[in-house]
Amino acid sequence: MSSSTGSSQLHGKRFPVLDKGYVILLEHLGSDARVVDAARVSTGTKTGVDAERDRNLIFFLMENKHGTPFEHVVFQFAIKCPLFVARQWMRHRIASYNERSARYRVFEEEFYVPNPADVPPIFDEADLKEYEALLKQEHDVYQRLVQKAQPFKEHRQRAREVFRALLGTAYYTEFYWTVNFRSLMNFMELRTGSGAQWEIRQYADAIAGIARQVVPHCYAAYERYVLKQTDAGDLERGMQQ
Ligand SMILES: Cc1cc2nc3c(=O)[nH]c(=O)nc-3n(C[C@H](O)[C@H](O)[C@H](O)COP(=O)(O)OP(=O)(O)OC[C@H]3O[C@@H](n4cnc5c(N)ncnc54)[C@H](O)[C@@H]3O)c2cc1C
Repeated sequence: MSSSTGSSQLHGKRFPVLDKGYVILLEHLGSDARVVDAARVSTGTKTGVDAERDRNLIFFLMENKHGTPFEHVVFQFAIKCPLFVARQWMRHRIASYNERSARYRVFEEEFYVPNPADVPPIFDEADLKEYEALLKQEHDVYQRLVQKAQPFKEHRQRAREVFRALLGTAYYTEFYWTVNFRSLMNFMELRTGSGAQWEIRQYADAIAGIARQVVPHCYAAYERYVLKQTDAGDLERGMQQ
């Protein structure tokens, strides 16, 4: 079975997403072979003797929803995305998260501005300029109030934690995300689907591109048995009925 040789070259590589965001794979644990090993521990059968058999086992596990062996592949990502994307992302509970603090760190004036091509054609440049100006104004007030507390050590933290509320959800945040491949499949299935918001889809697509390189056989099996059967767009349309 071919492995993900060279996938560690992905570690630390920054994949730009949206205008200022990114996805970075910090490190990962496991491989296609580890999934097969984990599944075979019950019978004691050796892995690596027959590559075709190993690959077939991955496809069998996926088809028959034997999800636990896929939990032995773990990814750790650093993500930078707008707050509204992070809010959708963190609904995925089967993962570990650590996010930057707005109490201990001052937010930079860094917010998401969509490309004109990514908003409906009824909106023009002037509309986007207005959007941008308002977000900038929010930061001006935030910064002025946070700065006002700067000479007072006992009030600085409180100022940051209260006045962060001024910043819209287009502002960028950063977090660490550690997730196993089973949960990652659920994330990719739901967030690459046509029903997911375009912005989080850009992140999910970047994540899927990385996962494909790290565990190529698991990813191929996921594509065949999970992705081809569902589209979160269908789920969304179903909910609206
Ligand atoms: C297109 C789209 C639109 C959405 N719209 C909305 C919306 O309008 N409002 C809204 O609130 N949310 C919305 N969501 C979020 C959605 O409801 C889920 O919270 C989110 O997708 C995370 O999915 P999950 O629970 O499967 O993932 P995880 O939380 O990572 O859970 C993974 C799996 O673990 C199991 N699991 C986890 N926790 C439990 C539990 N407590 N009990 C039983 N099993 C559990 C389930 O099998 C679950 O699928 C939307 C999501 C999508 C993709």
